[in-house]
Amino acid sequence: MGKPVWTNYHSHTRFCDGTDEPEMYAKAALEQNVAIYGFSTHSPLPFANAWSIKKEAVDEYVNAVKAVKEAYADRLEVYLSMEVDFVPGLTSVQDPIIVGLGLDYTIGSVHYVEQFDDGSHFEIDYTHSYFDKGIEEIFKGDVQKAVTRYYEITRQMLTEAKPDILGHLDKIKMHNKAKLHFQERENWYRDAVIETLELASKTGVVMEVNTRGMYKKLSDEPYPSAWVLKEANRLGIPVMINSDSHHPREITGEFETAAQILLDAGYKEVRIFKEHSWQDKPLTTKGIIL
Ligand SMILES: [Zn+2]
Ligand SMILES: [Zn+2]
Repeated sequence: MGKPVWTNYHSHTRFCDGTDEPEMYAKAALEQNVAIYGFSTHSPLPFANAWSIKKEAVDEYVNAVKAVKEAYADRLEVYLSMEVDFVPGLTSVQDPIIVGLGLDYTIGSVHYVEQFDDGSHFEIDYTHSYFDKGIEEIFKGDVQKAVTRYYEITRQMLTEAKPDILGHLDKIKMHNKAKLHFQERENWYRDAVIETLELASKTGVVMEVNTRGMYKKLSDEPYPSAWVLKEANRLGIPVMINSDSHHPREITGEFETAAQILLDAGYKEVRIFKEHSWQDKPLTTKGIIL
């Protein structure tokens, strides 16, 4: 049995809202006992925003990742991907620009729920005060409506434009750390999550356990929460651990915690992408046995 190593398939660089050149992450990945690393810049969006890659920079991004892939070929398995936004009717993994890139795999994420009166899209992944403004102005103060809609859009993504990896399933809870808006045990919340999991289990999508909320102190639990992972295990949904790293030091942030949570939820294996195929490998708290 080989020594355990980590994998990370969800990561950002200076091409979107990350900090450094791709090579810096490859270097840091090796230092953090990572054997397989996927780059997944935020896909270009058809409206103004502060964090996704610009359409004009996509070729440069692809070439930069390919250069790292070659330079590290003997040390690190490197993949080219994107975290593709799902905005109903506007963008998804099926966009010709995405399909045309021939990415090794795709991550699908929901960051936007409806629009303000001025047409700007309501981003659930921003500040608490902005979140409150969206709840007030778009949902008339009804947070349940907003959260329910968020899960509806997630299900629409799984039905209409299924990615390979389902990004941070319950990220909307990052505004609920202080439990001011809702309790996850409330029936309506559980129902929205379970309905989404049941659909996910039928699609074959790999659900990520995203540790970013934990190491950024936005959440006490990974995305998704431990109870969700227990339900996911019951439904046989394959999972993987990702850090959603934006800085090289974040690449394996809280991975041991996430591994323990998965083991406690009943998972014995994670699904990884290795040698261009999806494979299930044993998980320990110190890493994955390739
Ligand atoms: Zn995201
Ligand atoms: Zn991300």
